[in-house]
Amino acid sequence: MNHIILNSAHESGPTLNCHYSQIEDLYAQDNTHHTWLKSLSPQIQWACPLQTHSKTIYDLDLGFQSQPEADALITSSPNLGIAIWGSDCPGLIINCGDGHFGAAHCGWRGIAANLPTLLCGALREKSSFPTSQWSAYIGPGICQDCYEVDQPVLASFSWPKASLKKVNSTKALLDLRMAISCQCQLLGIEKITISPICTAENSNHHSYRQSGAGRNNLMAVYC
Ligand SMILES: [Zn+2]
Repeated sequence: MNHIILNSAHESGPTLNCHYSQIEDLYAQDNTHHTWLKSLSPQIQWACPLQTHSKTIYDLDLGFQSQPEADALITSSPNLGIAIWGSDCPGLIINCGDGHFGAAHCGWRGIAANLPTLLCGALREKSSFPTSQWSAYIGPGICQDCYEVDQPVLASFSWPKASLKKVNSTKALLDLRMAISCQCQLLGIEKITISPICTAENSNHHSYRQSGAGRNNLMAVYC
């Protein structure tokens, strides 16, 4: 399991615990994601969305749901945790520093639909802190060298130059985490941490590109 602490920009602000599952965490037994999440923090109530590569954001403060249909969740409750599925799609976690936080599943479709920007927009309506004082964590995902994409993906969005490496006239290598980071930077977030882990190259994690459908990885976050 990978664990990082996402500090708030304020010394006194809440820190977030961010965990990323390994294959063995979720294959140990049936219904393993509940067991794994409970092992992280038994007193936390977990929300684990039904993701559809959409840009839907659900606010858990409006009413707790354990499996909302959404690709991003936000909350300000210290009793709630958010767990986002992903295999090669990186997850994004935002810590506003005043108790508000959120997480999103950011595959190319979500990024092309501006989901990172929309997640920050939803948090900006609630947080009293400016985005310059927020911090962001972009979790494990497929790296640029392992992620060749073609025209449908390239034509779907105005991808930032820094996220593309041209292969030929129709193909390019796409850096999803860089594309997420660019949206965060444009919104004024200065403190951005990017995981170096490539899910396609690290055998501790499931990769859709590498092995096809299977048990995805979970990125879990709580206060
Ligand atoms: Zn890679």
